[in-house]
Amino acid sequence: MSSPAGHDALLAALRAAVGSAHVLTAADVDLEPWERDWRRRHRGRALAVVRPGSTDEVAAVVRACAAHGAPIVPQGGNTGLVLGGVPDASGTQVVLSTARLNRIRALDEANLTLTVEAGCVLQAAQQAAEAAGLWLPLSLAAEGSCTIGGNLATNAGGTQVLRFGNARDLCLGLEVVTADGRIWNSLRGLRKDNTGYDLRHLFIGSEGTLGIITAAVLKLVPRPAAQLTAWAAVPDLAATVALLGVAQRGLGPALTGFEVMNAFALALVRRHFPQLAVPLAGVAPYAVLLETSDAEGEAHARARLEAVLEQALEDGCAADAVVAESLAQARTLWHIRESIPLAQAEEGLNVKHDISLPVSRIPAFCAEAEAELARAVPGVRLVNFGHLGDGNLHFNVQCPEGANAAAFLREHEARIHELVYDAVQRHGGSISAEHGIGALKARILPRYQDAVALDLMRAVKRALDPANLFNPGKLLA
Ligand code: FAD
Repeated sequence: MSSPAGHDALLAALRAAVGSAHVLTAADVDLEPWERDWRRRHRGRALAVVRPGSTDEVAAVVRACAAHGAPIVPQGGNTGLVLGGVPDASGTQVVLSTARLNRIRALDEANLTLTVEAGCVLQAAQQAAEAAGLWLPLSLAAEGSCTIGGNLATNAGGTQVLRFGNARDLCLGLEVVTADGRIWNSLRGLRKDNTGYDLRHLFIGSEGTLGIITAAVLKLVPRPAAQLTAWAAVPDLAATVALLGVAQRGLGPALTGFEVMNAFALALVRRHFPQLAVPLAGVAPYAVLLETSDAEGEAHARARLEAVLEQALEDGCAADAVVAESLAQARTLWHIRESIPLAQAEEGLNVKHDISLPVSRIPAFCAEAEAELARAVPGVRLVNFGHLGDGNLHFNVQCPEGANAAAFLREHEARIHELVYDAVQRHGGSISAEHGIGALKARILPRYQDAVALDLMRAVKRALDPANLFNPGKLLA
C-alpha cells in the first residue's frame, strides 16, 4: 500500500473504524507531538494518527491496517527514550495512540488488583490505588505522562524495583489485540494460573512488536504505615555498594528505594534548577537517596533508618547523612533525583546509556569505562546516576564544556556507545536495563545479545506477527 489511492482507502477504513474526528493527518493538524521523540532527537513522518476509544475500535484499526498493508506504531505517552513509539521517516506508518483508552475499569480491594486501560497515565493509576488506601508501587520520573500500556510494553523499571520488581512483576493479566485483529483477554486477576505458556510475559517488554496492549490487571499492595527518605554523601562507588549491603541487612524488605547520583549530575541540577536545594552538596563525589517503607509506623521506620545510617558512617561507607523531616522534604529529595534527566536536557545534547550490571561489578565497570572514555574523548563529562539497588545505571556522557554539542555527537557518539557497551559486556551486563531497544539500539543488539536468544525472538515475532505489521524496524531490525 504505497499509492495515494491506497492511502485514501486506508484512511476511509480508519475513519469508519474510529470516527473521522479521531483520524488525524498532516493535512488537518501538525503531527509533531506524535512524530517527535521525547529527547527531540528524531522526527519521523506518519501517514496518520489514529485514536481508538475502545478495544473493539483498536481491533478494527488493526484489521484495516492489515488489509491495506500499513504498519502500526503503538504509542502511549511518547516518553520512551529509544525511539520505540515514533514512526520512521517513510510516511507510510500509522501511529495508534492509546490516549482515549484511559479508563480505570475496576479496583478489587479484596483481590488487591486494579484493572486499567492501556492509555491510562501511570499517575492516574497510582491515584486510583491511593484513593482506596492502596499502593501501586511503580514510580518513574515520567509518571505524569507515561501510560500503563507503555510501561508494560517496555517492562518499565523505576525507583521501587529492588522491592517490587519491574512492571512485569506487577502485572497479573492483559487484554491484547493480536496481528489478525482478534482480542485476547486474560484479565481475571489470578495470582496462580498454570494452564500453559504464560503469554502475558511475551507481550510485556515486546515494545509494541507483537500486539497492542489495550488493558491490564495490576497488583496493588497495602500502603505502608510510614515512608522515610534519607540522603547520604558517599566517598566512592565501592562505598555505595557497601552502603546498599548495610541498608539491605538493616531494613530488609522495607528498603524500597536506593538511588545513586554523581556530583556532576547534581551540579547540573544546581545549575539549571537553582531553586532546588541539593543537600550535602560538595561533601563527597556521590550521593545516595534511600527510601524505606515501613508497616509499623514512623517511629519504627526512623529508628531503623537512623541505625542503618549510623552503621554506614561507622563503616566509612557514608561521609554524612540526613533524614528528611517531613513529607515535603522527602518530595524535594526525590524531585532533585528526578530532575537529573531534565537538567541534562537543559545542558544540551548528550549520549545516554541505560545499562545494568551485577551490583558487585559496578565499581570496576565504572572505573574502567570512565578511564577509557577520558582517554578516547578528552574533556567529556560523565553524568552517572540511577537505580543502583537494581544494578541499573544511567551512564550518560555530556560533551566538553563549551563544545558544539551537535558536532561533538556527530564525531564521537558511535565510538562512545561502543566503548561503553563493550565494557558492559566484559563485565557481564546488559545494554538495556529498562528503556528497551526501540529503533535506537536495534542495529547494535545483535552484537551484544546471545545469538540463540535472537533466533528465538525472531521465531516468536514470525509466529505472532508474520506480516510484520507491528512496529517494524523496532527491537528486531
Ligand atoms: P511510549 O513512549 O509511547 O512507547 C514506548 C514503547 O511502548 C514503544 O515501543 C511503543 O510502541 C510501545 N507501546 C506503547 N503503548 C503500547 C501499547 N498499548 N501496546 C503495545 N505497545 C505499546 N523508564 C523506566 O523504565 N524507568 C525509569 O525510571 C524511567 N524514567 C524516565 C524519566 C524520564 C524523564 C523520561 C522522559 C522517561 C523515563 N523512562 C523510564 C522511559 C519511559 O518513561 C518508559 O519507557 C515508559 O514506560 C514509556 O511509557 P509511554 O506510555 O510513554 O510509552
